[in-house]
Amino acid sequence: MRYHDSVVDLIGDTPLVRLRNVIGERTRATVLAKVEYFNPGGSVKDRIAVRMIDAAEASGELKPGGTIVEPTSGNTGVGLAIVAQQRGYDCVFVCPDKVSEDKINVLRAYGARVEVCPTAVAPEDPRSYYNVSDRLVREIPNAWKPDQYSNPNNPRSHYETTGPELWDQTEGRITHFVAGIGTGGTISGTGRYLKEISNGAVRIVGADPEGSVYSGGTGRPYLVEGVGEDFWPDAYDRSVCDEIVPVSDSDSFEMTRRLAREEGLLVGGSCGMAAAAAVRVAETAGPDDIVVVLLPDGGRGYLSKIFNDGWMARYGFLATGGETATVGDAL
Ligand code: PMP
Repeated sequence: MRYHDSVVDLIGDTPLVRLRNVIGERTRATVLAKVEYFNPGGSVKDRIAVRMIDAAEASGELKPGGTIVEPTSGNTGVGLAIVAQQRGYDCVFVCPDKVSEDKINVLRAYGARVEVCPTAVAPEDPRSYYNVSDRLVREIPNAWKPDQYSNPNNPRSHYETTGPELWDQTEGRITHFVAGIGTGGTISGTGRYLKEISNGAVRIVGADPEGSVYSGGTGRPYLVEGVGEDFWPDAYDRSVCDEIVPVSDSDSFEMTRRLAREEGLLVGGSCGMAAAAAVRVAETAGPDDIVVVLLPDGGRGYLSKIFNDGWMARYGFLATGGETATVGDAL
């Protein structure tokens, strides 16, 4: 019989798929996508969830029957919820009230508790998103907060899995690695591994929403989700990237739609952003170059936004001549 003991065993070892239709006509390099929606929770974040939990169990920070508390509404929450339920931990996620009902319901479906906090209060207010998770950690017995922004096991999970997988899958022929930067864990861990194993030969390219700190901005306004920051997280190693490519929302969303229509890859907006950067990198790369771009998640969580013509038109991403909204309306 061939089976896995738990869905957790399916994390990692995601496939590489060649991009054939979204690359420029004159591009001679090979562009490969690392498709992370094949993880059981549907995103790259499953990797950090299992590694952060393994480490906390080993160090004794997370005890049997303990509770995981993290301010997250998205992919990290799903990864943590899956690993937690399989290992007998409870999960409490804290998220702002602007988060969609669908995202909250996904976390609840996996058995997690979700505390929704008002967005319209100051950060120092005890009801704020920032304060509630700290209070819950103090109040709940045996609570542990992974804190993906500062946890070294976030980049380490990529150093130990994503990096070696890419080296192995490309038989050491990868020449460029392109990924978006959110916490910075993916690019820092994968990038460091690839630099070390290739003696610095692999070029590491970060993709960043225009306006975020990594490409010289101060934070939002941009609409692409899961990437870009308004501060410098500890999980981001500033020495790893050789280049940062800023990508506009418009280019990110156009590429996200093209990936679905032309490559059969229904993926999220940060995937379109990273792919847009990779396509630019590949245009100036040589015929023997292998450009790998990591696509963090699937597109089903974005059906009412990026894949909705009305939403796209409202923000001016599709030309319709109708009334437009501003980025601020969505934030
Ligand atoms: N894309 C999406 C959809 C994400 O949720 C994240 C994680 N915040 C990223 C990209 C960026 O990955 P990292 O945090 O490893 O930089």
